[in-house]
Amino acid sequence: MGHFNNFKLGVYCTAQTLSRLTPERLDEEWAYLEKYVGVDKVYLETYRGDTTVEREQMEKMIGFFKEHDVEIAGGITTVTPDLTAEDRKRQRLFHTFCYSNPAMREHLKKIVEYTAGLFDEFILDDFFFTSCRCEDCIREKGSMTWEDFRAAKMEEVSKNLILEPARKINPKVRVTIKYPNWRESYHETGYYPKRQREMFDYIYTGTETRNTAHTDQHLPHYLSYSLMRYMENAAPGRNRGGWFDTYNCWPIDCYLEQGYLTAFSRPQEITLFQWGDLFENKLVTPLGIQLTKIDRILDRAGAPVGVPLYLPFASCGENHLEDHLGMIGIPLEPMPDFPQDAETVLLTKASAKDEAVLDKLEQHLLAGKTAVVTTGFVAEIAPDQWERFSTARFSGRKLPANRYQVTDDPSGHYRVNFTTAFPELQFGNNASWSYVNAGAGDYHSSLLLADTYGPGRLYTLAVPDLFSALSDLPVPVTDVFRRVLSANDMFISGRNVSLFLYDNNTFILYCYAREGSCPETVTLHLLKEASAVRTLDGKRTVSLCADVCRRLEQTEKEWKGQILIQPGEFLAFEIV
Ligand SMILES: [Zn+2]
Repeated sequence: MGHFNNFKLGVYCTAQTLSRLTPERLDEEWAYLEKYVGVDKVYLETYRGDTTVEREQMEKMIGFFKEHDVEIAGGITTVTPDLTAEDRKRQRLFHTFCYSNPAMREHLKKIVEYTAGLFDEFILDDFFFTSCRCEDCIREKGSMTWEDFRAAKMEEVSKNLILEPARKINPKVRVTIKYPNWRESYHETGYYPKRQREMFDYIYTGTETRNTAHTDQHLPHYLSYSLMRYMENAAPGRNRGGWFDTYNCWPIDCYLEQGYLTAFSRPQEITLFQWGDLFENKLVTPLGIQLTKIDRILDRAGAPVGVPLYLPFASCGENHLEDHLGMIGIPLEPMPDFPQDAETVLLTKASAKDEAVLDKLEQHLLAGKTAVVTTGFVAEIAPDQWERFSTARFSGRKLPANRYQVTDDPSGHYRVNFTTAFPELQFGNNASWSYVNAGAGDYHSSLLLADTYGPGRLYTLAVPDLFSALSDLPVPVTDVFRRVLSANDMFISGRNVSLFLYDNNTFILYCYAREGSCPETVTLHLLKEASAVRTLDGKRTVSLCADVCRRLEQTEKEWKGQILIQPGEFLAFEIV
């Protein structure tokens, strides 16, 4: 039996860590990790850069973990020092391999053969990318684009240097490719899950988000959930797990949030990177307690659901907008294929990568369903193509706003003391209708424009230039967005709180702990009748009151309740 019912807890051990571990240190560090986390599986890395773990040392490690009943897999990190003096001319980010170089290719093949000889399963850490623009790569690329060259190159490398050599040495071997936390750049660097998902036995997902504002990449916290769901939809049942680390994590909740959100996505495994960084690290000490609580929640929660967001493979544009929407409480389910069966679909700039997207949108609307498109999406579509759906046009000007109006609420006027910039949408009055206006002085335009198309409804959402400004908008304004993008007949109203929905009338709320956070009172809006909402542990019940309101041209009855939640806290509920 593992430590948790719903997932295995893995710890990744780098080659550098494994090379230094003596039997005494191993005993001591194992005891710490067992006490504070609970280890079900270890990934034992054979190779990383200048370090290869010698067979004798690796066999000692394997023996130790077997004795302790821990599942074992191997790991490889595909970075290498210069192999010859001539390699100095190859300017490789993080010393990733140049796959046009025969010596480096041979080097990798030998590492793979060594690893497959030791393990029946191994994973490639997320340095399995190439951004090399050395003269050999430029020559090989010829007239191709870098994107096409790298996709073809890494498919060939995956087959000839990883999978075939590994399977030849060990026919039982299963190989996992781990994808980094930067989906928007996969196609720039040779990561091509559309093809590689069929080649590898499993995929794995990086869910590191760290301190969003102060880390190297732009990694909003909701990514730890949204990317897991995207990769699960890319390879259903074969997204083996989520993986995060301790770097750039402050305050302590910033580290823990990565684990919470990864777990909320219902992974098969959660892997902590890496053994050497975890030992005596205060960030790690609450993890076992918190994951035990989430494990109890997952015993009762169903399968994750949300509003489908269409992000085709190899797409980018309005990068991480979905994460900022997730962090204002909109429950999203990103996926690489257009969601044929969904009632509501969200399309962003990245969705426009699909050349057939307008036909798919039209079919969706003609089936009587709802679509929400962002201004970034509309900007990608030629005006004469868009004209059939909406009168929305870009003026090319910016709309600075410090005043907002929810147009179907007579009291819905809000003034704030800061200015947020939006792309200005112009539209035909009474040909389209605005549900949210914004502006300054005597001027305003629409932030949420509604059109009908056949039996379907289309909303155009103006996204602030700075996505993180979404969380600063007046709550009644973002309530309209959340109502339009609701799922499971419910939405929440509040700030700084994410909603995680499951298909069995359960949901989780998480309140982000970041600079300036304070306790939040979330209003629950249930759009179908419920007799009660209570926490899964049965200790708290939310009292509900019925209300009738006219919103989006419909008179709706809803049931409302209030929930107080503290920063860093998660609460799980069932609707009965
Ligand atoms: Zn190169």
